[in-house]
Amino acid sequence: MSEEKNMECPNRTEACGSCSGSSSGDGACEVRKCLAGVKRKIVVLSGKGGVGKSTVAVNLAAALAQKGLKTGLLDVDIHGPSVPSMLGQKDVEIFSEDGKLLPTEVYGLKVVSIGYMLSDPDDAVVLRGPAKYGVIKQFLSEVAWGDLDCLVVDCPPGTGDEPLAICQMIPDPTGAIVVTTPQEVAAADVRKSLRFCLQLDFPILGIVENMSGFVCPHCGQTSYIFPGDAGERLAMEFNTVLLGRIPLDPSVCGAGDTGHPFSVSNPESPSGREFASIVKRIML
Ligand code: ADP
Ligand code: MG
Repeated sequence: MSEEKNMECPNRTEACGSCSGSSSGDGACEVRKCLAGVKRKIVVLSGKGGVGKSTVAVNLAAALAQKGLKTGLLDVDIHGPSVPSMLGQKDVEIFSEDGKLLPTEVYGLKVVSIGYMLSDPDDAVVLRGPAKYGVIKQFLSEVAWGDLDCLVVDCPPGTGDEPLAICQMIPDPTGAIVVTTPQEVAAADVRKSLRFCLQLDFPILGIVENMSGFVCPHCGQTSYIFPGDAGERLAMEFNTVLLGRIPLDPSVCGAGDTGHPFSVSNPESPSGREFASIVKRIML
């Protein structure tokens, strides 16, 4: 291999303009350039589906924007993008200008999801791993994110193509928020996501335990519908912190369905306050 070919782009940490990427041809340089104005990059992960990753990602991002922070939300759940409907944007499309995708703006957030690129939101996205990698690379290198205080990334469950692509491509990540429910059956899957982070040397910001107790609106008593303390146990096991416990709350679910982030519409409820306290902890 010639010396020139073997050389890394000397400007990998800043917008270099003149180079087309690192010598490996993996586009790392374009990604760095595209995300050069993004201060914090937080990835929401879980080994398990349905535990509330998208709910946590949307509500944290909306709560950050609510605090006046410039916030982006990137949905890399290619097969099951929930972000557009959780933000009430099922029929919204995004467009390109000067070769860059322009995020849609809602609730003070800049948002990108494959859901905004489908002619029918109910269309199935049929893509193999390399094509998904290409879509994610485009989201990280060809979007006009501009200057952001924080970019929150919502991942699909597991440790497959999408989380792997994101965790390998994001430069200088702030870390992962790993979502679990209280039960051991969830912890068994979520443990894999935590090990995945360790394997990739991806920092772990902490754990959010979702669906953690249910406060009865009639009698005010708490019932533990999903029993257990997986959040606390995983935090201890992986030497990280439990960032917060979000109760099982019908209005969180309702807000997701109607497209109004709960942390914005109900900030004073127990779940809203918990989102606010998680935001405080991750922005310290
Ligand atoms: P994931 O992204 O992990 O697959 P979602 O965020 O889509 O999970 O959540 C799955 C379902 O559970 C959604 O209908 C959502 O509205 C609901 N949900 C999530 N968290 C809560 C909660 N704390 N209380 C009530 N419903 C919730
Ligand atoms: Mg989801």
